[in-house]
Amino acid sequence: MLNPFSYVRAESLGEAFRHLASDGAVVHAGGTDLLGCLRDQVFSAGKVVSISGLKGLKGVTKGKDGGLRIGALTTITDIALNADIRKQYSGLARAASEVASPQLRNQGTLGGNLCQKPRCWYYRGEFHCIRKGGNQCFAVNGENAFHCIFGGADCFIVHPSDTAPALASLEARLHLEGPKGKRVVPADAFYLLPDFDPTRETVLGPGEIVTHVELPAPPPGLKSSYRKVRARRSWDFALAGVALAIVFQGDRVAKARVFLSGAAPVPWRAKEVEAVITGQKLTPEVIKKAAEVSVQRAKPMEQNAYKIPLFRAVIEEELQAIAQA
Ligand SMILES: Cc1cc2nc3c(=O)[nH]c(=O)nc-3n(C[C@H](O)[C@H](O)[C@H](O)COP(=O)(O)OP(=O)(O)OC[C@H]3O[C@@H](n4cnc5c(N)ncnc54)[C@H](O)[C@@H]3O)c2cc1C
Repeated sequence: MLNPFSYVRAESLGEAFRHLASDGAVVHAGGTDLLGCLRDQVFSAGKVVSISGLKGLKGVTKGKDGGLRIGALTTITDIALNADIRKQYSGLARAASEVASPQLRNQGTLGGNLCQKPRCWYYRGEFHCIRKGGNQCFAVNGENAFHCIFGGADCFIVHPSDTAPALASLEARLHLEGPKGKRVVPADAFYLLPDFDPTRETVLGPGEIVTHVELPAPPPGLKSSYRKVRARRSWDFALAGVALAIVFQGDRVAKARVFLSGAAPVPWRAKEVEAVITGQKLTPEVIKKAAEVSVQRAKPMEQNAYKIPLFRAVIEEELQAIAQA
């Protein structure tokens, strides 16, 4: 059931911030996640502030330095199909194309995808779990097949967005704006682990929104990719996934950034993989070793140890593919 709330469609960022200052006000972009959360009473809202009419937050533009600026209201479909993103940052285009279903990609925005709430069935269900301000994570002694194998503490969600690990691998910067002004946060510093605060997913402060995402000019030799394994082919969240951004010099890896999806409460940086492949040719031996070390810090729960061989296989296959691309 949907509890009553008031709805305003902001005509400017200033107007949005004024409305967002009121108690219980929430941002509405495409609404594909927000309305489900309100209907299922995951949280409630006194006021829904739509930013969907703010034209300045839409679209993909080229920066002078060769990078790109992606407005927070750009749809996931537009990101998946954008020619510059496909050419320069194929990992992001691929990740966007793996999000949900065509209808959801047409309506859902990048800002909403980055700020969507986690999909844990206890959090989304009628459980007063620690993420809702309760005192326990029901997944610990409950159904935890789809929960995290890294970074869990008190709460064991997995981060849901496919675009976030791709953006983190590509060293994207998130531009935030709110009542206290503007700030820029690297994509890999935007998310919070539960041991910091299990009731928050991101660094966003009250009334603060993501306005746009900035991608740096791709360095020569950059190849990027995203691979996602899910239970259903039609649409589903990642069981295991990997975003790769690798700068090659000749056939050697000069720099690597590797982020896992479906693994942790945040896009999970696989530093062990980066360390194994940096400076190396991606030979079968190096790839095998990288896949092995990718899960060495994993702490599976009772029902999700299957993710360990899954991650090994996904990483091995995706490194092989990027080496041959
Ligand atoms: C059935 C289903 C399957 C899905 N599968 C996947 C999947 O496989 N992979 C995946 O990545 N996602 C998946 N999603 C999530 C989907 O991608 C998101 O619902 C969508 O991207 C959210 O975008 P939106 O514009 O509709 O956000 P909204 O629903 O409007 O907002 C989502 C949240 O983000 C906040 N928000 C929105 N925009 C901003 C902003 N600019 N700044 C700050 N906060 C903001 C809102 O307040 C709200 O809390 C799925 C969703 C559904 C319903």
